[in-house]
Amino acid sequence: MKYDVAIIGAGPAGSSAAKTLSSSGLRTLIIDPCDRKKVCAGILTAQYARKYRIDETYLERELKGVRLSFRDIKAEITYKNAVEYSVDRASYDSFNLSEAIAEGTLLKKDSALSIEEKDSSVVIRTAKEQIIADYAIVAAGVSDMSRLCGGVEKYAFCVQQKKALKPDDYFEMNLMRGGYSWTAPKRYHVITGTTSPVNYPDIPGEKGLIPLGPVKKTYSRRYLLAGDAAGLVSPFEGEGIYYARRSGEIAAEILSGAIAGKNTLSEYQARWKKEFDFFSLSVISRMLSNDVMLEAFVRAVRDDGRFNKLVEGILIKENNRYVKDIRLLVETFDPLIRII
Ligand SMILES: Cc1cc2nc3c(=O)[nH]c(=O)nc-3n(C[C@H](O)[C@H](O)[C@H](O)COP(=O)(O)OP(=O)(O)OC[C@H]3O[C@@H](n4cnc5c(N)ncnc54)[C@H](O)[C@@H]3O)c2cc1C
Repeated sequence: MKYDVAIIGAGPAGSSAAKTLSSSGLRTLIIDPCDRKKVCAGILTAQYARKYRIDETYLERELKGVRLSFRDIKAEITYKNAVEYSVDRASYDSFNLSEAIAEGTLLKKDSALSIEEKDSSVVIRTAKEQIIADYAIVAAGVSDMSRLCGGVEKYAFCVQQKKALKPDDYFEMNLMRGGYSWTAPKRYHVITGTTSPVNYPDIPGEKGLIPLGPVKKTYSRRYLLAGDAAGLVSPFEGEGIYYARRSGEIAAEILSGAIAGKNTLSEYQARWKKEFDFFSLSVISRMLSNDVMLEAFVRAVRDDGRFNKLVEGILIKENNRYVKDIRLLVETFDPLIRII
């Protein structure tokens, strides 16, 4: 059987692409071995909650805001009009996959080994068979398969641990040069994690990789890269689930359009670039690239109400409000940038 679209990977990017394609009547196949545990803090942001429904089946806790710290300086941002969620990632992923299957997506529990673009189809090989489709979406996260397809190039190394500590309703981020560590509250315990730009931190726990920015080209002749495979993770605070889900949907819309002869695959890149403001987020994260700036940032969040509100805007990404307010960030940090 020839499929309209074959999707490699059933994380948030692959499952949401599959759901969108199947619901518009296209023959859609999703390939995933479904045997790996996704290492993730499981925070669904306010931006995510505004766009998508949160289901009780995977919900662990509602979060009121974020606590930031740098060394012994601590600041708290309590969201005024937003809430974030802590979820169980395995249940979240199987919920999304089941929604795609309910729309008619077929699932093959297998691993893709290669993808070959022909004139009018793609051929995906697994150890057992070859799968033929008109188009494909590579949503295989940070993996060899994604790299083989020109995907994710740069990433940070993370280690996560489950700890039997009393959770509360704030996500905690301890900022440090080139990364951060975090505490994510779950229903009855917390998950702590640490990132490093160069190698896995030397602590016990589960290991995972977070992309550090989009790849240059997220489309090819017959396939698109979505989610982590395309490096679509916020460069500021590592949010990836929202961008995976949304880029999967955009990829599905572009492929539906291509099948109907309405657009080309290259339009995908322009669409997500227009929608995701990674530029401002990476400017902010570059500003915070040394200890003097990090200290000034956390002090400003703690002591200045206007600045606290601005950082709330950056974190919840409401109407990209922070882009307008970025002047305040520059004003606050300009004298420091000159000194350093
Ligand atoms: C430690 C850590 C904590 C994080 N915490 C958060 C957080 O709290 N909030 C947030 O928003 N983001 C977080 N992220 C980022 C987030 O997890 C990712 O951005 C998101 O999972 C990307 O979704 P995806 O669908 O692109 O890829 P993935 O979720 O990685 O899914 C990829 C899928 O592809 C499958 N696959 C891989 N290779 C193949 C192959 N060859 N053939 C078939 N299938 C294949 C895998 O089995 C997997 O199911 C975190 C990341 C890490 C590492």
